[in-house]
Amino acid sequence: MHVLVVGGAGYIGSHMVKLLCRRDCEVTVLDDLSAGYRDAVTGGRFVLGDLGEARVLAEVFAAQRFDGVMHFASHIQVGESVREPAKYYRNNVFKTQALLDAMVAHQVRHFIFSSTAAIFGEPVRTPIDEAHPKNPINPYGRGKWMVEQMLEDYDLAYGLKAVKLRYFNAAGADPEGQLGERHEPETHLIPLVLQAASGRRANVTVFGADYDTPDGTCIRDYIHVADLCEAHWLALRRLWEGGESAAYNLGNGNGFSVREVIETARAVSGREFSVVYGERRPGDPARLVADSRRARDELGWRPRHAALETIIGHAWRWETR
Ligand code: UDP
Repeated sequence: MHVLVVGGAGYIGSHMVKLLCRRDCEVTVLDDLSAGYRDAVTGGRFVLGDLGEARVLAEVFAAQRFDGVMHFASHIQVGESVREPAKYYRNNVFKTQALLDAMVAHQVRHFIFSSTAAIFGEPVRTPIDEAHPKNPINPYGRGKWMVEQMLEDYDLAYGLKAVKLRYFNAAGADPEGQLGERHEPETHLIPLVLQAASGRRANVTVFGADYDTPDGTCIRDYIHVADLCEAHWLALRRLWEGGESAAYNLGNGNGFSVREVIETARAVSGREFSVVYGERRPGDPARLVADSRRARDELGWRPRHAALETIIGHAWRWETR
């Protein structure tokens, strides 16, 4: 099977490429390296290009018949999406549509889409299952939800089968230590905390300690990147076996507070670092935890690295490599 991985040089995409190569797939990576790294692509054929350019897509699809497409090439910063919505709609929505149109034109029928918990907006109940109302509150979440809806229509009209995977908080690093998270600038909690632990950063700021949670800090559902990738693999296999389009919420089902992340990082690293208590970050719900039972029941997905110590341990090895 030959899989096109768009955004395969980025954090999650690079882990996915490694897994697909392990599972004996042929892989083509399309990435413009705007946020990814060439040396993170450890297998397959690499094509440097922007999926927004018609010529690039035409060449990639003409060169090869693909059995499936995975799409990781998104901008991911919620705050930036509020300041620069045009950038987010262009990249995350319109370029995705161009990719889908190329798939339809070349009769490629299987698509795995990286969606997000941000499509739900402020939770009305928790844990969040797939039926939870979709009420995104920023351009990042709205764009992802638009694509999910577009996929429903493309399935009905063109028979394009898609699995939408709503990530909660992707975290951790390759258990073998070869790959990890390299965002520039880094905005995610776990790598920032570990940068403080390693001394690359003077301190870490907690965005609000007055939430209605047991310790006052926000609770998130951290899911190991290797477990996320396994879910993509199971989802693609399901489509290959004739499965219908579907959507799955992917998390551990365990919430951890910002304080728990900090304490675990201290324990794992054995380092002390300074913590500053700051204002709330606009748009942060107090608690985001997934109900992933559907992925467990229908895909047979079982997160293997669910312990926060393991997630942070792998990320710490990457930080100190
Ligand atoms: N957070 C924090 N300090 C930081 C970065 C994040 O306190 O420097 C908090 C943030 O408010 C949220 C949690 O950590 O409650 C996870 O944030 P992150 O940006 O990693 O992921 P998100 O939940 O926004 O997808």
